[in-house]
Order: sequence, then C-alpha cells, then structure tokens
Amino acid sequence: MSTYFPPGLPTDPPVLDPETRPYWAAAEQDSLVVPFCTACEQHFWYPRGFCPRCTGDAVEWPRVSGHGEIYSYSVVRRGFGAWAKHTPFVIAWVTLDIGVTVLTNVVGCTEDQLAVGLPVTALFEAGDGNPPALRFTPRAGS
Ligand SMILES: [Zn+2]
Repeated sequence: MSTYFPPGLPTDPPVLDPETRPYWAAAEQDSLVVPFCTACEQHFWYPRGFCPRCTGDAVEWPRVSGHGEIYSYSVVRRGFGAWAKHTPFVIAWVTLDIGVTVLTNVVGCTEDQLAVGLPVTALFEAGDGNPPALRFTPRAGS
C-alpha cells in the first residue's frame, strides 16, 4: 500500500512586509499572484517588491493559473517541531507554467503518484493562525 500524503501540514509564520502585501492579500482569497517585472517582462519568485534581475521596482502582481509540474521532490521522514508529527511529508520544487520554480509541499497524493514531471496545481492551506501556505496537489486526471 502506497503512503498517502494528506493536506493539513503546519504553516509557518511568514515575514509580512508592505512590499509582499499583494501576494498575501491574494493568498487569503485562494488566488495565486506571482510578481512580474514590466522591464524584464518576466515573472520572478519569491514575492518581493523589486526584480532580482534588474533591481527595478516596476512590479505587477498578475493572477496566474497555479499549474505546474514537479521538478524534483523528496519524501521527508523525520521532522522537527510542529512538522515531526506530520511525517512522512513531501517537499518539492515545482516549476509553474510561467517559468518560476517554487520550493513547496505536495499534498493530497500517494507516494506511487509522485514523479518528476507530474502535473500539479496550486492550493492554499490555512492553519495555525498563520496566513495560508502555498502548496500543490496533483492535477485532476494525473
Ligand atoms: Zn526586471
């Protein structure tokens, strides 16, 4: 029987500052926005108020589909603090269809489903009184 990785992982308190407010406001609405530099015409990750390529602050926050695929993953079998009682869980790099790669968790899947290239979609998990955490789950039909 394949291990199932349920949703409901702990959330950690993020650093909340004014320049990332658009990201967190969208997350509270279950909507993923990814910063976009209008000078470079490219998205970038992680959320911040300036472009890491050109250091410009011409940043927009468009909503994106949240579709991507697993670039790499690992099953974590030992955790610390709040994570210890949620093992095993999956930590993964997910590359979104807009080109950015996000360090995240994959939930709602079995170990047999996990694969590099698995199509996934974003979801936000609230909990612990912290803002929602961005996670991914296999796309329907995958
Ligand atoms: Zn730029």
